Amino acid sequence: MMAQFPGVRGHAQAQARLSRAIARDQLHHGLIFVGPSGVGKATLARGLGAALHCQVQPALGCGTCTSCRRIASGTHAGVEWLAPAEPGGRVKIEAARTLAHRLEMAPFEGNHHLVVFDPADAIGEAGFNAMLKTIEEPRPGVHFVMIVTGLDVLLPTILSRCLTVRVGRLDDADVAAIVEQQVATAETAPSAERIELAVGLAGGSAGLAVKLALDPSLDASLALLSQVVGAAQVGPAAIFGGDKSPLWQAWSSAVGPVKTGKPARERATLRQLCELWLLHLRERLRGREGLPGVPPGPTDPRAVLAQLDEIQGLLESIARNPNVRLSLEQTLLSLAA
Ligand SMILES: [Zn+2]
Repeated sequence: MMAQFPGVRGHAQAQARLSRAIARDQLHHGLIFVGPSGVGKATLARGLGAALHCQVQPALGCGTCTSCRRIASGTHAGVEWLAPAEPGGRVKIEAARTLAHRLEMAPFEGNHHLVVFDPADAIGEAGFNAMLKTIEEPRPGVHFVMIVTGLDVLLPTILSRCLTVRVGRLDDADVAAIVEQQVATAETAPSAERIELAVGLAGGSAGLAVKLALDPSLDASLALLSQVVGAAQVGPAAIFGGDKSPLWQAWSSAVGPVKTGKPARERATLRQLCELWLLHLRERLRGREGLPGVPPGPTDPRAVLAQLDEIQGLLESIARNPNVRLSLEQTLLSLAA
């Protein structure tokens, strides 16, 4: 197995490239970590910090020395984060100015100083302009990591002066290992089945998988899927049974009590239902049982493929569909036919 930065899973190529650059003392001063959310860009930045500062295993990080442990716990002065006070917020311009000033004047802990913008789009144009000179020509040993999900949020002046490092989706095995580690401290630990389901749904994002593993609404969506698969087999009697029928009771529970924004909530419910349904059908195609507690549905692979197409179409139509309940009824009818 390849050597890894402490606490980092996957992203072998990116790690190898960064480690090599540190070993040759050629690490670019401006790095952009771009990739989907939840794949571990911030974790990779922390690992990079350990690799820069660790004296025990230079260019890699040992994970156990004082320096590595302080970086892991966020108490090392040589790895600092510029992040908004709350998720989705903006970084204050004063914070950007103070940072720029300090990076030019103040002494550092150690020979290196890593600054992580998490996410870089929270900085804003004014903030970047305040730091532009510092980012373009930093003091020796200063490195920046800008965390983004897309390059379009960065100013061209920043983009042209930085090195882009792609941080792609994780393997399911890595996602599963991260989820198991993260949910170990949860109040009610999710079952192994639930973790497997969350990993299958998350598409290589450990962050999303952890969220799904702990998401109580997933149970209601699974119960709804069971009713939906059953109704698609029974046909009109089950589809048009009215609000008190098992199908639409399950629908109401999955949508949950809503005072405002019901259409958005219904769309989210249908989206999660479709994603679970697709996962169920793909599992069936692989000859497996499908999702826990959900009836198997059709057994003929051609029929399963036809259902996959139909559900995929339903999923793609959700955004432009004014009446999601009606579109679910229509899909069920055409499946039952
Ligand atoms: Zn170390």
